[in-house]
Amino acid sequence: MSQFDVTEQRKADWESAANALQIRDKAYIDGKFVSATSGKVFECINPATDAVLATVAECDAADVDRAVKAARAAFESGVWSAMAPMNRKAVLLRLAELIRQNLVELALLDSLDMGKLVNDAAMVDVPGSATFFQWYAEAIDKVYDEIAPTGPGDLAMITREPLGVVGAVVPWNFPLDMATWKCAAALAAGNSVVLKPAEQSPLSALRLAELASEAGVPDGVLNVLPGYGETAGQALGLHPDVDCLAFTGSTAVGKLFQQYAGQSNMKQVWLETGGKSPNLVFADCADLDAAADMAAFGIFFNQGEVCSANSRLLVERSIQAELVEKLIARADAMQPGDPLDPESKMGAMVSSEQTKTVMRYINIGKTEANLVVGGEQVKIDGRGNFVQPTIFDNVDANATIATDEIFGPVLAVVPFDSEDEAVSIANDSVYGLAASVWTDGLSKAHRVAGRLRAGTVSVNTVDALSPMTPFGGFKQSGFGRDLSLHSFDKYTALKTTWIKY
Ligand code: NAP
Ligand code: MG
Repeated sequence: MSQFDVTEQRKADWESAANALQIRDKAYIDGKFVSATSGKVFECINPATDAVLATVAECDAADVDRAVKAARAAFESGVWSAMAPMNRKAVLLRLAELIRQNLVELALLDSLDMGKLVNDAAMVDVPGSATFFQWYAEAIDKVYDEIAPTGPGDLAMITREPLGVVGAVVPWNFPLDMATWKCAAALAAGNSVVLKPAEQSPLSALRLAELASEAGVPDGVLNVLPGYGETAGQALGLHPDVDCLAFTGSTAVGKLFQQYAGQSNMKQVWLETGGKSPNLVFADCADLDAAADMAAFGIFFNQGEVCSANSRLLVERSIQAELVEKLIARADAMQPGDPLDPESKMGAMVSSEQTKTVMRYINIGKTEANLVVGGEQVKIDGRGNFVQPTIFDNVDANATIATDEIFGPVLAVVPFDSEDEAVSIANDSVYGLAASVWTDGLSKAHRVAGRLRAGTVSVNTVDALSPMTPFGGFKQSGFGRDLSLHSFDKYTALKTTWIKY
């Protein structure tokens, strides 16, 4: 399957590859696929068809304990944590290569499991995962420690040491990539990991664990436990022998992990949580078509199920009508379709529950603002959970649809009259994950970017992201950063060793 050229795939090719898939449906603990201790299983549903895709091991506290013990034993043995950096690098480089070789399978697993376009999974998610593993692998033998300037007679070394057992709990919107963002950096730093993927999308993480073993990651170093947040996720958060818990998901659950840490061993908790990211388009924007293209991408890509989705469009009133007209045309051209059809522009929502949530917000929006395009739930071939790209114009900045994170393809357009007003609306949010600014003025770009309270500000683009730059939030969008070398701050402890001579 690895020879298949993704850009030349037709729907029938993806369908036949999907039919040939062998889905891993057990937990991965200590280098082996195993059933849950309880013997329980749960169903994974393909939200594009409502069909049962797999029946997967439902892990709970007993399995968390098993996996943490395996992870701790592997860590203490030094088989990974004390491996020479060059060798650890070689293993993770092999993993990056194996991800590339298994691109078709991994892309299908995410697409079938949570409804995203298989083309996006194949061109964005899976290559991204390989790139992130490669990037952290390459960093392993290039990051040096420090010597403090204490003066003669004293040598104070500042070294970074792996923490031990890292728990990772991740959401369903980019299943492979969210698992990768945590695992690549945590493993590169020498930790063992126990990963709980989202109940909606555990399949690619299970395959990733198996590929990691094939690449040479020792048994017990990467464990994957499918299961529910309230059981497996909570048990990981409360486990006394987990040193660090890295979470991506909702703000409400992020706060629970802080409580779990306080109730147990005060493990470090790092949170990447929700957002309601503003996209500020000023009248001096040089290319309104580009701004419209990227504004549409910023809210409709991945069905709007993106933590940093540009869900608030703040537009200077003098260009509001023109920009909204351009956006309506783009929304019309991005109707949802079969995720396995490369011609489709948007996929299925992750679940019927998420579809209901989004439709509830759309119905609130209809009472609060002016619906200009979309607004309907649709079926494809009579099946599945799909929502039209939806835009509300003239939304009050305090309206529900302008303040709540919807996590769907719903854009709230809010007009403004001045730079001060735009910045004040943008910052009037409990969130601060990302923001975008469109202007041709260099000074204005810097001034506004500097005033926005967000972890990433993209100027004349949206959602700029790379392995080289940190990603994370201000305010209730969380703290701690994924990506870049800064991510190692979460997965290592600084040690001072002071030698008097
Ligand atoms: P979620 O409900 O918070 O779930 C995230 C993870 O937490 C899942 O693995 C979930 O397990 C687990 N979980 C749920 N309840 C738990 C509990 N009581 N104790 C322990 N773990 C628990 O979020 P979601 O609805 O899946 O994802 C959407 C949210 O993620 C949005 O708010 C979005 O903004 C955020 N997100 C943020 C980023 C970022 O980088 N900042 C990226 C992507 C998504 P189950 O699957 O079993 O519920
Ligand atoms: Mg599913």
